[in-house]
Amino acid sequence: MLPSGSTAGPTRLLTTRGIDLIHSPMVVYDLICKKQHRFEAWFPNYEEYQKQADKKLISCPTCGSTGIEKLPHACAVHVKKEQPAPVPKKTEKAPPGPPSPAEFKEMLLRVHHYIKENFEDVGSRFAEEARQIHCGKTEERPIHGTATPEERAELTEEGIPYAILPKPELDS
Ligand SMILES: [Zn+2]
Repeated sequence: MLPSGSTAGPTRLLTTRGIDLIHSPMVVYDLICKKQHRFEAWFPNYEEYQKQADKKLISCPTCGSTGIEKLPHACAVHVKKEQPAPVPKKTEKAPPGPPSPAEFKEMLLRVHHYIKENFEDVGSRFAEEARQIHCGKTEERPIHGTATPEERAELTEEGIPYAILPKPELDS
């Protein structure tokens, strides 16, 4: 199944500032809530997981329960920093050496989840916000949102770094 990389509409972008966060090796834990919903979550390390779990900051995406337990299985994922694409292209640049499209897709889903948890969603104001952050006019923070091809071109022209987040197509 081919992920449609259509660039006709707004694209989901994120600030590369946040990519630095993703760039660090992440630990993915299989978690389970007390209603037996299984889900995965990314953490910088075990301590961070523990901290968030203790503070009940982790909630089940299905039912919102914070009674979360970690399943024994864990795997580490390392997402390589991508070069910001100067020319909008439909090609999705996979991180070096992705074992299979399925695994890449899964990784993408994890990235999406991570971003959802850690980046501020500024929606269609992405270009504007990224510019403000770039100019130091507003608080520096990881953001994500959407931008039209025109806005993307503008950002590129102004030398404002951003990264394109490929759509996993499974976002419901
Ligand atoms: Zn649940």
